[in-house]
Amino acid sequence: VDTDRRWVYAFEDAPADARALLGGKGAGLAAMTAAGLPVPPGFTITTEACVAYQDAGHHVPDGLWDQTETALAEVEAAAGRRFGDADDPLLLSVRSGAAVSMPGMMDTVLNLGLNDGTAAALARQTGDERFAYDAYRRFVAMFGEIVMGVEADRFERIVQRAKGQTEGGQDTDLSVDQLKEIVAQSKRVIAGQTRQHFPDDPREQLRQAVAAVFDSWDNDRAVHYRRVHNIPDDIGTGVTVQAMVFGNKGWDSGTGVAFTRDPSTGAKGLYGEYLLNAQGEDVVAGIRTPKPIAEMAGDLPETFDQFQALADQLEQTYGDVQDIEFTIEQGTLWLLQTRTAKRSGAAAVRIAVEMVGEGVIDERTAVGRVDPAALEALLHPAVNDDAEVELLAEGLPASPGAAQGRVAFTSDDAEARAAEGEPVVLVRQQTSPEDFHGMVAAVAVVTAEGGMTSHAAVVARGMGTPCVAGASSLRLDAAQGRLEAGGHTVLDGDWVTVDGATGRVLLGRVPTKDPELGDDFRTLMSWADDVRRLGVRANADTGEDAAKAREFGAEGIGLCRTEHMFFGDERLQPMREMILAEDAGAREAALRKLLPLQRRDFDALLRAMDGLPVTVRLLDPPLHEFLPDLLELTGRIAETKLALKQATTLEEMDRLLDESAASRALLRQVEKLHEENPMLGLRGCRLGMLYPEITQMQVRALFEAAADCVEDGIGVQPEVMIPLVSAAAEIETQAALVRETADAVLAERGVALDYLVGTMIELPRAALRAGDIARTAEFFSFGTNDLTQTTFGLSRDDAGRFLSAYVERGVLPADPFQTLDVEGVGELVRLGTDRGRAERPDLKVGVCGEHGGDPASVAFFHGVGLDYVSCSPFRVPVARLAAARATL
Ligand code: ADP
Ligand code: MG
Ligand code: MG
Repeated sequence: VDTDRRWVYAFEDAPADARALLGGKGAGLAAMTAAGLPVPPGFTITTEACVAYQDAGHHVPDGLWDQTETALAEVEAAAGRRFGDADDPLLLSVRSGAAVSMPGMMDTVLNLGLNDGTAAALARQTGDERFAYDAYRRFVAMFGEIVMGVEADRFERIVQRAKGQTEGGQDTDLSVDQLKEIVAQSKRVIAGQTRQHFPDDPREQLRQAVAAVFDSWDNDRAVHYRRVHNIPDDIGTGVTVQAMVFGNKGWDSGTGVAFTRDPSTGAKGLYGEYLLNAQGEDVVAGIRTPKPIAEMAGDLPETFDQFQALADQLEQTYGDVQDIEFTIEQGTLWLLQTRTAKRSGAAAVRIAVEMVGEGVIDERTAVGRVDPAALEALLHPAVNDDAEVELLAEGLPASPGAAQGRVAFTSDDAEARAAEGEPVVLVRQQTSPEDFHGMVAAVAVVTAEGGMTSHAAVVARGMGTPCVAGASSLRLDAAQGRLEAGGHTVLDGDWVTVDGATGRVLLGRVPTKDPELGDDFRTLMSWADDVRRLGVRANADTGEDAAKAREFGAEGIGLCRTEHMFFGDERLQPMREMILAEDAGAREAALRKLLPLQRRDFDALLRAMDGLPVTVRLLDPPLHEFLPDLLELTGRIAETKLALKQATTLEEMDRLLDESAASRALLRQVEKLHEENPMLGLRGCRLGMLYPEITQMQVRALFEAAADCVEDGIGVQPEVMIPLVSAAAEIETQAALVRETADAVLAERGVALDYLVGTMIELPRAALRAGDIARTAEFFSFGTNDLTQTTFGLSRDDAGRFLSAYVERGVLPADPFQTLDVEGVGELVRLGTDRGRAERPDLKVGVCGEHGGDPASVAFFHGVGLDYVSCSPFRVPVARLAAARATL
């Protein structure tokens, strides 16, 4: 090992911007020291030392203790006290801090350096025995817990017992003798629990505390936190060792935490809490209730003014809102930490825009300051923060927004009651395409099973309906119209409130507040639009969704799923006739009924988009999705059979016999269409290949609607998209059919307009053969949902069971249905784009599907050079911002 390596940096001679080397806390303290701010002297042991310690099997690297001694001597000189001194001892805090904030790591040890001798010295020095022995007993407990691993409860019990013997029963009522006794008992507990003595030697205390910080890097909490937040395991933590200052030395002392602006609203001005005559952990421990920071202006006016000025200075220096920890020792202000403040989405937008106004940052920086993911919540109603809530169950925050309604257990029920004007929350074990009408009718959806990409989640997000998925503690009994969870019983028709942003299902009607898309939001989005290159479109199937999408700034429709147009009673019937048709003639008759319905939908969509491009995907799902469920049918047949036995009149028997025959015929059809693996079966363009009439009907409907628009002076840019292509011959055949049909309609109507014919790339073979396909296709749209399924060979309806375990164990870095698997699926996107453009240089390439609204995926799509992404309307602003940030 190279002994010359530098492991330790004093605050005053640390390099600038040393976050990676010293961790966030150490780097912040060094920067504040360099800026001349009042920081107690100290030094930081590098993150590299932590890594070296780990690599060496938990041995500190050579030279570390020597360098620590040297740095400690400097701290002693600056503080005018010596560590372990018998007259005027220096006490230290030992603090952890990685380059990324990691709440899972070691807690801070305060008052390090105390033993019987130094405690007595501290008492003499300060003339305050209570203070000294209170610090001592706190230190022994903290050290025992954090460094030696004894349960905190054991020390707490000793204190509780002692307090019980006093009159007032408060911490402050403990006598000096009692405090001394608590120290002695705590040490005995440590010895009993660990078979090791509490180290009286201050230097031994320091060495053990530093090693404990290094070890905490690998504790379960920290490892878990890194997994969840995608933080690498090999960056290590820094250890900061600092002279203690005391906020508990009387009423001119205190400690607190403050933000330079309100982290939930963004309003300018100090925001935070403090306590007089207290040490750090008292604020957090909730033993005493802290006061709002504004009151400090009355308590300690001079210190408050000084703090205000320092806070302003820190905000200016860092160019961002700061979260500052401070302590006042007998009127002297000390800063103990500063970091960039976490903030709500609303605050982030307001702060970014106001700081541009104040000249602190420029517009590009402002765009980079707002997390796109936080934006989505702003676009939906939210549960009022002040409201009292009672939790019924918790699941995944599958679709943001909050809504209250009365519970319905079936989609039919939800639809019927919503039609009466009742707000309904649909609660299901899980949803399937057959629940679509219930989901449309509901104000919110809850499922007991399923993940972030379950049917319920995807459909709800698409519609902007709040959804909590996978609330596994729910015990549903739909037949009895009741559910149980968390010790509560909720009956059909009872009120619940769904908070899709946090994944909570709450009892009763909890007040919600509507989103406010203020001027700040619009300003920020306009800056984002100036910066981004990637286009942003929306997935929308109705005029209403399209209008919403435009309001959110969509530049077109990237995916209209035409199958959604066939749900609902009026439409399902002719759709079933079409599917069940025995021959082409019967099929065409059914399609003729569907044509006007489709035309009406396309008309609404084209008008809402008013000249912007609209990509219409031809029918995609397997046909059986439109037919009744096998089980349901057999059930119905059994019921009819039973009714037949009990029938009393001939008429009734006749009717039942007819019904039975019809059900049996339907059953035979459904069985004939049954597929073992429908997602890999007769669907997508395979339908159009077998039944060209379907393609013809859809294209005719689209172009008749387009012609109507043109006649009304409305511009249109239709783009016909052929799904699930894997062979060039498929796109060749289908594209020819589309062009032939479209041109025929346009000729009939005497209307000229430009349109495109393209395809979805959602099978690995299509990506590989993109060159052949681009000979025919004028645009590609990567259907990354299906492409992820087929690349991984992983069904997204079933993957919920094991994907989360995979992510937790680090087998996969993230759920590939939420964040694009850049290495695998991303490779196919890159390759498909390149091969397609090599064949057709002006090929337009986009993405539709969930990933189009995921910030990390959007950044990747920008990097690969796609033309646009398409996502659900509510995610359009998220994608616009993410696309802008990808260019920074
Ligand atoms: P965290 O990372 O959990 O915020 P810190 O290392 O910031 O932990 O320490 C927590 C608290 O301990 C601080 O907010 C402060 O109140 C107290 N503290 C830490 N170092 C010192 C010190 N040198 N003097 C006085 N109090 C300290
Ligand atoms: Mg802190
Ligand atoms: Mg698909």
